[in-house]
Amino acid sequence: MPEHRIQRASRTAKLFVVVVCLIILLLEAWSAWRAYEMALDEATRDASNMALALTQQADQTFKEVDVVLLGVQEHLDYDGTKAAGRQRTHDFMVTSVAAVPQLAMLMVYDETGLAIGTSQATLEHRYIQDDYFLHHQRLRTNQAYLGKPMRSRVSGQWVVTMSRRINHPDGSFAGVVVADIDLSHFQRYYEQFAIGRNGAILFGLNEGTVIYRQPLLSYSIGLDISKSILQGYLTNAEQGSFELRSPRDDIVRITSFRHCNLYPLFVAVALAKDDILEDWTRRVWIRGIAVLLLLIVIGYGGNRLVAQVAGRETAEMEAITARTELERLYRTLEAQSQKDGLTDVFNRRYFDAALTAELARLNRSGESLSLIMVDVDHFKRYNDTYGHAAGDICLKQVAAALNGVARRQGDIVARYGGEEFALILPNCNAASAAAISGRLVQAVRALRIPHEGSPVGQVTISVGAASLASGKGAQVDARDLIDSADAALYLAKEQGRDRAIQHEYPRLTLLPDIPGLR
Ligand code: GH3
Ligand code: MG
Ligand code: MG
Repeated sequence: MPEHRIQRASRTAKLFVVVVCLIILLLEAWSAWRAYEMALDEATRDASNMALALTQQADQTFKEVDVVLLGVQEHLDYDGTKAAGRQRTHDFMVTSVAAVPQLAMLMVYDETGLAIGTSQATLEHRYIQDDYFLHHQRLRTNQAYLGKPMRSRVSGQWVVTMSRRINHPDGSFAGVVVADIDLSHFQRYYEQFAIGRNGAILFGLNEGTVIYRQPLLSYSIGLDISKSILQGYLTNAEQGSFELRSPRDDIVRITSFRHCNLYPLFVAVALAKDDILEDWTRRVWIRGIAVLLLLIVIGYGGNRLVAQVAGRETAEMEAITARTELERLYRTLEAQSQKDGLTDVFNRRYFDAALTAELARLNRSGESLSLIMVDVDHFKRYNDTYGHAAGDICLKQVAAALNGVARRQGDIVARYGGEEFALILPNCNAASAAAISGRLVQAVRALRIPHEGSPVGQVTISVGAASLASGKGAQVDARDLIDSADAALYLAKEQGRDRAIQHEYPRLTLLPDIPGLR
């Protein structure tokens, strides 16, 4: 496997782990964001539904009282001012207060503000100039009027008043009939709604007065909110929702408001964002911790995986390096096992194998083959004169010279042993072998290596060549061929060295003497 691909594997593993972690994080963040939005949406819807239910309840509450007020008006018209008539009106008021739970008390005042009728057992003699009285005195309308919350003169309880104008037969102002509506009625109703720790329900008059607040604060009843932000929303829309940080308690609330259908009233339900998101926050924490643990596990496992992949890569790299090194070593060893250590020509072992192989090939192809044996003249004396180390250098030079002559493809120059060399020349007939033999002698002469012990004063060689021009299938033994060449070499030595003799198998031929240096 190529190195870059191996390294890419551990990089891919690392990238994979990082991408998986990122995807998990993104999915988790996305789902948390979705849950956040859904929680807020749901809370807004809840607040809006609650506001709807409460406005319906308010309409219902006032409608029931209004029906009673209309009843009292009618009684006043028909029962007359005599004692019996007054008693009937009183009885009607008593039964009405008993039948309508939110209705705390009914009072009738004449045009001077003097109390002239009540649902109470006794009628106190008193005058009033309350806002509803002044309102009806001023305005000739048959609409019921909702007054600001106030303390009941009788019970001291917080009440809100609902009143109607009484007219004389000519339509002029004859007084008012007024109902006290107990605010605890709203309290009991509002307490049933779950609005959270910091939620609030605000019930009020459209013109900007709070009638009731749940939970109740000491100052909330009758509070003027006509300058508040809520009032801004109330005057602009029938219903709606908005998010606002309260400047009073610094709590962010989602507020849904709605106006009543029948009366100039509104209800606003405000849910604190912290309450709404309490579940969500807890879930995000739990899931966050779970995801963190998951990421740690994946990170740890991934790291180990990457380490394993990296380890395997390193091992593979090392294996490849080792194999390459081994192959190189093997090739070197193989080359070395074929070569002679001193002279760098082929060694004797290689020579033997090559000659056997060449002869076998020759037997099949029927081509020619020449074997040339070379021996350095008077080499013992050379060693004696110049030393063994110089002798080694001389042998190297001679080998290089021989190599320079036999340069054809397939030619083999080998060290046969000691100061003897052998050349195998495939496809080389006797004539060519004779030429090459001569050139070998010449080449060594040309080295001009001084040799005091030699009659010619320099290092020379003797050469014996044996050539085969056998036909196909001729069975020639390697030993025979070597012996032939050796015999020629022996002759060359005998005839004075520094020359070549050819043995054309099986004939022995003397080569013409090669011109010497003498
Ligand atoms: P001739 O002309 O008859 O061949 O005489 P010669 O002295 O060469 O014959 P001989 O075979 O008696 O001597 C060969 C010498 O070559 C003997 C040995 O010391 C020397 N010799 C053999 N191998 C090496 C070698 O590897 N290095 C060196 N320096 N000398 C070697
Ligand atoms: Mg020798
Ligand atoms: Mg010799």
